[in-house]
Amino acid sequence: ATPTAVMVGTGRGAENGILFRGGEHLEATATLDAILLDKTGTLTVGKPSVTDVVVLEALEALDAGPGVDGDVVEDAAEDAGEAPTGAGASGNAAPGGDAAPGRGGAGSSDLDAAQRALLRLVASVERASEHPLAAAIVQRAREAGLDLDEPESFEAIPGHGVQARLAGRDVVVGNRRLMEARGVAVDAAADRLAALEEQGKTVMLVAVDGRLAGLIAVADTLKETAPEAVAALHEMGLEVWMITGDNARTARAVARQAGIPAERVLAEVLPADKAAKVRELQARGRKVAMVGDGINDAPALAAADVGIAIGTGTDVAIEAADVTLMRGDLRTLVAAIELSRATLAKIR
Ligand code: ADP
Ligand code: MG
Repeated sequence: ATPTAVMVGTGRGAENGILFRGGEHLEATATLDAILLDKTGTLTVGKPSVTDVVVLEALEALDAGPGVDGDVVEDAAEDAGEAPTGAGASGNAAPGGDAAPGRGGAGSSDLDAAQRALLRLVASVERASEHPLAAAIVQRAREAGLDLDEPESFEAIPGHGVQARLAGRDVVVGNRRLMEARGVAVDAAADRLAALEEQGKTVMLVAVDGRLAGLIAVADTLKETAPEAVAALHEMGLEVWMITGDNARTARAVARQAGIPAERVLAEVLPADKAAKVRELQARGRKVAMVGDGINDAPALAAADVGIAIGTGTDVAIEAADVTLMRGDLRTLVAAIELSRATLAKIR
């Protein structure tokens, strides 16, 4: 039978936006010693935006609207004289490859013709994807006023990227692993890639007809209260881990900002393998909470001793979870553990 204390505890949780699906989950929460946090949407706000459009190889005969057909200079001139050097016909990106740091308004004036052509191609492919990274790219293309094309075929490759046939070209957009699988050489962009990833940005590589054509970097913001929440969890004696499908360098950069040690970062984990990571920690004797928001996270939420969904995330995650945090603020995770511990202390 559920003791009164547990009922009081779950009620108090509900008042504070912490929904325990049952009293047993409140009790289990008190026994946790490891917390596995999903990166995107859990530690970060989950609204990535495009920061860099790097053109490595110019796309020929691809109309990207105004600015492409030889009027590069005119387009740049509209931009208050901030003409990007070395871009356009030569196919090299502006120095540093920065497109629109800090986002900002108009868009079209931020990008040169070659960048617009690349962005149009990639957005035309990504519009068919449901991934947040895809949404960021499509949004940037909209801001730039680009008309998108309809791909002849499209395929999502979970945990890797997307591929499509568009205007007679084979277009592949995704991570390094995907490029390797398709035999696309990425060495020429390795330094650039590393520099962007060091900044905590997620970089998508773009291959056109088997050749690396460009990079699109996206940044997501760490939740403001994340470092405070992680510090509190550490103080309570919990091991804090981060898990993500993103690459190791980006993952470590974000973890550093959040105060999670590099050795507790599980990166490049395929969607199907997240649950196995939970079981690995359990096999080491840990009582594990998985905290996540995505469809990808559902199996891991189910496998964990306590599955904790972020209420701002997908219904699939919420349904798979034992606890839902109504607000995205990770301080409510700290509150949930404090509440469960206090409740259990009363029972004993
Ligand atoms: P997460 O949910 O942590 O972002 P995913 O497993 O969904 O991880 O994706 C892992 C990586 O695969 C992404 O970081 C990205 O590099 C690549 N990827 C996934 N979906 C797409 C997409 N629609 N377009 C481009 N790259 C993608
Ligand atoms: Mg997520």
